[in-house]
Amino acid sequence: MKKTWVDKTLCIGCEACVNIDEDDILFMDEDGLAEAKENDKELKTCQMVCPTGAIKIGKE
Ligand code: SF4
Repeated sequence: MKKTWVDKTLCIGCEACVNIDEDDILFMDEDGLAEAKENDKELKTCQMVCPTGAIKIGKE
């Protein structure tokens, strides 16, 4: 199953992905890093705006 997830080792907490996520799947965790709720979405636009390549689509 396809899904969007965040590799937190790459996230720098810029919030760009959360700000454009119209599906409200991405959010900032207590450490200031992006995290994805359970989903079966391909958030390609969010993936494109991430400056570090932390947003992944596919198997975790
Ligand atoms: S755009 Fe990338 S670096 Fe910025 S918060 Fe989202 S996942 Fe982290």
